[in-house]
Amino acid sequence: MTLLRIAGLETFYGASQALYGVDLDVKKGEVVALMGRNGMGKTTTINSIFGLIRARSGSISFAGKQVTGMQPHRIARLGLGLVPEGRRCFPNLTVLENLLAAARGNEWTAQKVGELFPRLNERRDQFANTLSGGEQQMLAIGRALMTNPCLLVLDEATEGLAPVIRQDIWAAIRKLKANGQSILVVDKTLSELLPAADRCFILEKGFTVFSGKPEQLTTALQDRYLGV
Ligand code: ATP
Repeated sequence: MTLLRIAGLETFYGASQALYGVDLDVKKGEVVALMGRNGMGKTTTINSIFGLIRARSGSISFAGKQVTGMQPHRIARLGLGLVPEGRRCFPNLTVLENLLAAARGNEWTAQKVGELFPRLNERRDQFANTLSGGEQQMLAIGRALMTNPCLLVLDEATEGLAPVIRQDIWAAIRKLKANGQSILVVDKTLSELLPAADRCFILEKGFTVFSGKPEQLTTALQDRYLGV
């Protein structure tokens, strides 16, 4: 079953066009990697899905429902959970309060998030603004899970984090995948991203230029679309 389907998506910032034709889909239970060099349109695509930027044309549907033009809070309620680039937790709430403030549905609880990220559990009474960047990212993932999303979307899952924390986050993503969680993930660490992904999409200058299984992404394609 297809959860998310994007076809011919075009998005502008004022007069400046950022997306020219993005096609992407995520099926239930899949981990899909969204890749591309800096500035190619990954964040714009994600923000378009969540209604944070209005799509100019093309279509975005989630669980069979058109979300193009819908208000962001209504889109989120359809079962989309976002871990935005730059995290964004409530700085003056504790870890536990941050998690409880996000709670919707009853499958995910603060305790379950604590089991996924024991490091976060040890800091549950600490204010979010006293956490390290990596712990804040774990909290951002925990907050998104507390909404019990059908699709979890991570924009830059491990960017700028210490290697040991990156490992914890990839381990959590693998665990979520094993439990059947559908995930759309942006990250630049191909060595972790590709083994975790069922399928990949690459954006180049606002177009989808590759879609396929990780094993179809040859070194030549990686050099062409992802090399520096
Ligand atoms: P990165 O990996 O650096 O986050 P990205 O693939 O997520 O890059 P986007 O951030 O979606 O790329 O940017 C796509 C294009 O849209 C770029 O040309 C960028 O300069 C432009 N853009 C992004 N945000 C804005 C904005 N707020 N106003 C104007 N142009 C923007």
